Amino acid sequence: MQLYQSNQIKLYNSLTGKKEVFKPIEEGYVGMYVCGPTVYSNVHLGNVRTFMSFDVIFRYLKHLGYKVRYVRNITDAGHLENDADVGEDKITKKARLEQIEPMEVVQRYTVDFHNILNTLNFLPPSIEPTATGHIIEQIELIKSIISNGFAYEVNGSVYFDVHKFNKTNKYGKLSKRKLEDLIHNTRTLDGQSDKKNPQDFALWKKAEPQHIMRWPSPWSDGFPGWHLECTAMSTKYLGEQFDIHGGGMDLKFPHHECEIAQNEAAKGKSPVNYWLHANMLELNGQRMSKTTGNTVNPDELLSGNNKFFSKAYAPSVIRFFNAQSSYRSVLDLTDDGLLASEKGFYRLMDAVNLLENLKPSDKSTIDIHAWKQKCYDAMNDDFNSPILIAHLFEAAKYINQIKDGSERLNTEDLKTFTDTINAFVFDVLGLENTSKNESGTDKLSGAVDLLIKLRQEARANKDFALSDKIRDELAEVGIQLKDGKDGTTFSVN
Ligand SMILES: [Zn+2]
Repeated sequence: MQLYQSNQIKLYNSLTGKKEVFKPIEEGYVGMYVCGPTVYSNVHLGNVRTFMSFDVIFRYLKHLGYKVRYVRNITDAGHLENDADVGEDKITKKARLEQIEPMEVVQRYTVDFHNILNTLNFLPPSIEPTATGHIIEQIELIKSIISNGFAYEVNGSVYFDVHKFNKTNKYGKLSKRKLEDLIHNTRTLDGQSDKKNPQDFALWKKAEPQHIMRWPSPWSDGFPGWHLECTAMSTKYLGEQFDIHGGGMDLKFPHHECEIAQNEAAKGKSPVNYWLHANMLELNGQRMSKTTGNTVNPDELLSGNNKFFSKAYAPSVIRFFNAQSSYRSVLDLTDDGLLASEKGFYRLMDAVNLLENLKPSDKSTIDIHAWKQKCYDAMNDDFNSPILIAHLFEAAKYINQIKDGSERLNTEDLKTFTDTINAFVFDVLGLENTSKNESGTDKLSGAVDLLIKLRQEARANKDFALSDKIRDELAEVGIQLKDGKDGTTFSVN
């Protein structure tokens, strides 16, 4: 008997706007697709949050015994600036600016993406397909859409006919938009487009002479539209209909809406049973944005080398912080929030590290099965990890009570208790057992704090030669001391 047989998951389906009982198409198997990154720059922390939420979902489904095929793509062509149908390919533009091959850009940022995710202890997806590796599939898909009458060719480019599609199918069902409203709200730019209607979107774009990334097709030498790759790759690896499609909230429209339309137009089927959307990540209460400077890269967050945070945070602290809010809530990244999560994380780890030394008694005083069920109930309720963490803190309290003898567990219950904690902490939440003292950055800050204290004593004794020597020699090894009204802090360069 697998755990999924006794655990009914309810998940919030963006398509219906309701929590629904999760029933996979084939019992015991789950097909899950998540839109991956466009690899033209360092991965955005907001995207990392989305992928981290789906990593926990992937882990929980696996924990329940499902055989999960998790597909997360790499967009390495076709994603034009401003997510629109005109403009330069994001990867080509970056390559031109840096005077390197487009595939060099792709390689560099794919490696960066994998490094960050490995550091943060992600499980790799089952398949990580690339857009450029599936040009043939995308061309075949366009042919089907044209032959079913839902796309047209103009000057070597092919566009999806949204107006025609809307007559037989409904366009906008995921994002709850009506075509009439979209028409009303779209400005028409005269002569700038070959499209019949501004709402139509590109399936194939003819490449301008200077465009480097191009492939031959029946229509022109060109490249596929961005929305197409996900339809081609999800149906290739998961079938024309599959269980879960995930992504960031910002992809709901137009990207996911277009995926549904393409699938219905090509195959006559709605592709996805459950659409899941992770909410946005904010920084200090505001939208993250490169233009306003309110942004921090994942590696800057991990190294502490940034202007927003007082220190470096361990990867598991960042995972813990993310899991302390639901994937459907806006998450506000703040120094106070991370400090609180760090404290909580190490408190939990200190308790987990006591587990193996706990001694069983002949009888139990805690109903450990009821506690275990509450952990599952939390995750079964739309992957409610903050509630799960509340139950893990309850477990930390039990551990300390068992240790001091005020509560007891028999051998069997103690094993259930230990196994359940380990499963949720390590397998499902993906945390790593780093105790505070093992972390190099904490040792460093302990040592520097000691030097700061010695320097204060030197100054109190008017020994300014010694106090300057401490400051200057720390600066020489790249540690800057900053004297402020609340005392001295340091940063590592
Ligand atoms: Zn996608």
